[in-house]
Amino acid sequence: MTASSAPLVDPYGRRVKDLRISVTDRCNFRCTYCMPEEGMKWLPRNEVLTYEELARVATLCVDRFGFEAIRITGGEPTIRSHLSRLVEMLSRLDVDLAMTTNGVKLPELAHDLAAAGLRRVNISLDSLRRDVFHRLTRRDDLHRVLAGVDAALDAGLTPVKVNCVVMRGVNDDEVVDLAAFGRDKGVGMRFIEFMPLDGDDSWSMADVVPAQEILDRIDAVFPLVRGTGGEVAGGAEPADTYRYADGAGDVGVIASVTQPFCGDCDRVRLTAEGRFRTCLFALDEHDLRPVLRGGLAAGELDDALAAAIEAAVGTKWAGHSIGRVEFVRPPRSMSQIGG
Ligand code: SF4
Repeated sequence: MTASSAPLVDPYGRRVKDLRISVTDRCNFRCTYCMPEEGMKWLPRNEVLTYEELARVATLCVDRFGFEAIRITGGEPTIRSHLSRLVEMLSRLDVDLAMTTNGVKLPELAHDLAAAGLRRVNISLDSLRRDVFHRLTRRDDLHRVLAGVDAALDAGLTPVKVNCVVMRGVNDDEVVDLAAFGRDKGVGMRFIEFMPLDGDDSWSMADVVPAQEILDRIDAVFPLVRGTGGEVAGGAEPADTYRYADGAGDVGVIASVTQPFCGDCDRVRLTAEGRFRTCLFALDEHDLRPVLRGGLAAGELDDALAAAIEAAVGTKWAGHSIGRVEFVRPPRSMSQIGG
């Protein structure tokens, strides 16, 4: 927090300090829990914010509101060309700069992104079995994602965390194998409860494997100790983290459905076309693109952006209501919001 910045606090007293930036709605995978096989109707390119526009919003959030973390997401961020140019712009800010990726392009990009200033990555990997991976992502690229994990480690984008969305009857029988993978590779597994943000609206509570069940399965084989015994390496995260009793690293669960952590939420999101979202499940959005492209002079533009962001955060709700009768799915799938 600099002298010139003031904290941005929502109506529930939560300080907002983590910005998730989606740089594209496009992806080179077709994960079943995210989008249909044919993909989505992509945004016209002229509607997607330029790197300069994205960096302007991010810079304002840091300078004006003292944000401490920025995460680059998508769709799949690495398929947007010259991504290291945006990373270089954002790396000038005093923040924890991270990225969530499917990892498939990291073998060719990891070192450039690290050199541009990216600090760390979360890589999505939901299965270690070629057939299950292929069925889940509709791509036969398991080997390339595994090479992506190695490339991230090699480039020093550490701690490398691996995100796995656990779905009952799909990949939940691999939880212990994936935990073993994380221990062997020295990466932090993050097991995520399946959320109702899938592209074909097929989500049901029956598909959700509760975080406690995931932990119990791992603990039965690799005993766990709550917490990581100190500061989690690599910035704050929504995961509930544990360390292995034998010292072989840490593992986390993101229990958005069964143990919501909205009470501590410090996150807001910017979609690729400039919609400001105060929650992953928000039903309303705040369009910043007309402000960005309204021809205002620099100072006026920052003031207008700050006012729009403050107004948006002033409408932030207490949290999602998944599992309750009043829950309404947001009109966007995960690929159109960003993780
Ligand atoms: S569901 Fe919304 S309010 Fe809850 S933690 Fe996620 S982003 Fe924050």
